[in-house]
Amino acid sequence: MKAITVRAPWCIAIAAGAKPVENRTRPTSYRGPVAIHAAASWAIQGGDDPRVRAWWWGDPAWRHRPSLESGDFAYAFRRVIAVTNLNGCHQAEPGCCTTPWADQPTAAVPIVWHLELADTVRIDPVGPLRGQLAVPWRLPVEAAAAVTANYGLATAVASLGQGGLLSKVRAAFEEVDPAPGELVERSRRLVVGGDAGA
Ligand SMILES: [Zn+2]
Repeated sequence: MKAITVRAPWCIAIAAGAKPVENRTRPTSYRGPVAIHAAASWAIQGGDDPRVRAWWWGDPAWRHRPSLESGDFAYAFRRVIAVTNLNGCHQAEPGCCTTPWADQPTAAVPIVWHLELADTVRIDPVGPLRGQLAVPWRLPVEAAAAVTANYGLATAVASLGQGGLLSKVRAAFEEVDPAPGELVERSRRLVVGGDAGA
């Protein structure tokens, strides 16, 4: 599995699904799944950034709240914290993206590329791992396996919570007057993916 290393708090916002664009000074031709790896260091300007604070504290409360502190995110440093999909990459130009997280060129950073991220899933952290500058870099085999496993678990839990198997089982149990054995059988059929048999 591929990975990109991003400093916190930017990577925290990506992992939460709040930040759909990663700003870089170079393009990448890679498309597909990519792990979000938190760098070892904290981006101080990120902790002060109005977009980060508005996301973290809520709008407009953030105006009266402090900058984010690195100590609150110690769990993330040097670990893979999410899996996303890198769906595209384009050079920044006025109006190219609607999200406020997409930076435009400045005098200090005259060329900006937007990496388009989608379907981001936060996972139980994997690591610590040493970050790399390449976009993307390749995770070591053991780390990739752990990330894949944690991603599978996270997506399964998400589907349960969003009206998947769990709600079907609950609905089966809430029907009127079924015999207990019938309930068990219906649940079994649901679990093995057969007909719901309502
Ligand atoms: Zn853009």
